[in-house]
Amino acid sequence: MTAPFGTLFADSVATAVFDGESYTYSGAVEPLADLSLHPGTHALHYGSACFEGAKAHRQPDGSVAIFRLGDHMARLQQSAARLHLPVPDVELSSQMVIDAVRANADATPSAPGSLYIRPTLIGTDPNIGAAAAPSKTALLYILNSPVGDYFAGGVRPLTLMVETSVPRTTPRFGMVKTGANYAMALGVTLAAKADHVADQVLFAADGEISETGAANFFMVDDNKVITRALDESFLHGVTRASILTIAGDLGYEVEERALSVDELVAWAPEGEVFLSGTAAVVAPVGTIIVNGDRITIGDGQPGANSLRLRDALTSIQVGTAPDNHGWRTVV
Ligand code: PLP
Repeated sequence: MTAPFGTLFADSVATAVFDGESYTYSGAVEPLADLSLHPGTHALHYGSACFEGAKAHRQPDGSVAIFRLGDHMARLQQSAARLHLPVPDVELSSQMVIDAVRANADATPSAPGSLYIRPTLIGTDPNIGAAAAPSKTALLYILNSPVGDYFAGGVRPLTLMVETSVPRTTPRFGMVKTGANYAMALGVTLAAKADHVADQVLFAADGEISETGAANFFMVDDNKVITRALDESFLHGVTRASILTIAGDLGYEVEERALSVDELVAWAPEGEVFLSGTAAVVAPVGTIIVNGDRITIGDGQPGANSLRLRDALTSIQVGTAPDNHGWRTVV
């Protein structure tokens, strides 16, 4: 795949409308087309929009399997509830995803490519006086995008700028997959790219490590895997949860706890660091920038444990390893 991640779209979408009472889904996909929205649409003014990011992978027998569909749809419910949008049943949203992926199956690239799945939920009330009122109507649609690597250049060691003063996002909304979270990280990330040639920003307000703009953070060595314990301040990654399970299966000790920048700096000479996410998969980190100092992680190259975890995860996703945890939904 040569097109940048997220810029190609598959031909079919599944759409459901919430009219104030219930969701209506025709049960049939439609051709991808522009939306027609009133200029006063609630989502455009008051941010009542959330989304998911999942993937479907080509399997060895040619079929396509969605990875951890139920978990992604449960997180969509969590985001919808926090935004006071009508919460779609997991059964409905899952069926819509299955229908969209089935219709777009031919557009699914083989590994390392995949079909990215973007369920999107927006509040559609035409009401510009509703800052303190939720949208009673909503639109849910499932958009698909054939993708390759998220980070240009494939699996290569990333450079992270560690930001210790600006918070990752607003309190309580870190676990909501909504545009405001990304908007808040954007300026800091652009500055880090321009000033430090960094790939991503690792947010660590007051020296406590959170996550980057679009992925969770891990440290690993030959014995253990460490990541921040869940709280409301950051996104509860499905990939994060998968890695913790896989790491346990492979015999690593798993630690979910607070992690400081000081600990990361002390870890750097011997340990490994990586990011995890649906888009990022397992992305090894080679350099961190702390207070302007560039610090190399290990020898600066992707570490053996990071690559081992990446391989274990992707093998389950693409069907070359057994699905022991029931994570694949074949369409
Ligand atoms: N953190 C943020 C802010 C994200 O946008 C994402 C990507 O979806 C993640 C973490 C990783 O989550 P997941 O593994 O569910 O894709």
